[in-house]
Amino acid sequence: MAELLKGKPVADRLKEQAIALIQQGAANFRAPKLAIIRVGERPDDLFYEGGVKKNCALWGIDLEIKAYPLTVTQETLLAAVAAVNQDETIDGVLIFAPLPKTIDEKAIFAALAPEKDIDGLTTASLGGVFTGAKDAFAPCTPVAVMETLDYYGIPLQGKKVVVLGRSLVVGKPAAMLLLEKHATVTICHSRTEHLAEVCRGADILVAAVGKARMVTEEFTHPQQVIIDVGINADPDQPGKICGDVDFAAIEPICAKITPVPAGVGSITTAVLLSHVVTAWQKKISSHSR
Ligand code: NAP
Repeated sequence: MAELLKGKPVADRLKEQAIALIQQGAANFRAPKLAIIRVGERPDDLFYEGGVKKNCALWGIDLEIKAYPLTVTQETLLAAVAAVNQDETIDGVLIFAPLPKTIDEKAIFAALAPEKDIDGLTTASLGGVFTGAKDAFAPCTPVAVMETLDYYGIPLQGKKVVVLGRSLVVGKPAAMLLLEKHATVTICHSRTEHLAEVCRGADILVAAVGKARMVTEEFTHPQQVIIDVGINADPDQPGKICGDVDFAAIEPICAKITPVPAGVGSITTAVLLSHVVTAWQKKISSHSR
């Protein structure tokens, strides 16, 4: 039986640290504030927004939701981004993606001020992740992966880590953050040859493919740590979600594994809000100079 690396204690630690900072800083400044820009009413977005809203109230973070219909124009969205950029009371901005096909998404992301880009959407933020800039916000999910490894004390230096998936939201930034911690990183994707064998060679396997239960017994070994980032509709149980890892098959074999649900996905909101608090703290420091 593998050790279960649950997300809740990781998220709780982030929450406790952030609330302590908010209580210290808000006495002489204002509360931190997050703005959400949402187009349409996709169920996934509304679900995520509901979680963010609930947690903002718990943490003491103000929230402003700017919701637009699917018919919104490029000009209106650009104006919305310009407004949040200029608003001194807004510390961080979350733009739900993908935006409708009628919108030039890249131009909208590019317009966002990097210091408010708490979900690592902009090229400037991703560039910062690749150069190791300390002030750049990485996308929240790879940060949640790193927080999980840190919380459970899993060493990275010199370890062989395979990241399965090379998206800009998860795989590539996760690989860079792991490299920053001196792991020996291999990135795999849909054209990787001998995929199971390459993954089996890893001390730590980070699965971010978006394919339900694709990672099976032949990908793992008894000493391996598995971080399952996948959130997929469960093909066997309608209405439920499952990871990229075949948990039932792998959990009896590997050493440590994150569950789905209640694993990495449950940390993402805490990372997002802790990024808002970090952006807010930077403002406090610049005000007190
Ligand atoms: P994505 O953009 O679809 O990227 C998937 C990656 O997996 C691609 O690089 C793709 O390779 C690779 N891939 C697909 N099929 C493969 C196969 N059969 N063998 C090897 N590689 C394969 O997905 P994503 O946005 O990175 O998301 C990945 C997973 O994480 C999804 O389940 C998503 O729901 C989940 N996710 C979770 C959170 C969270 O909060 N926990 C946040 C974001 C995403 P190519 O590049 O060659 O096509």
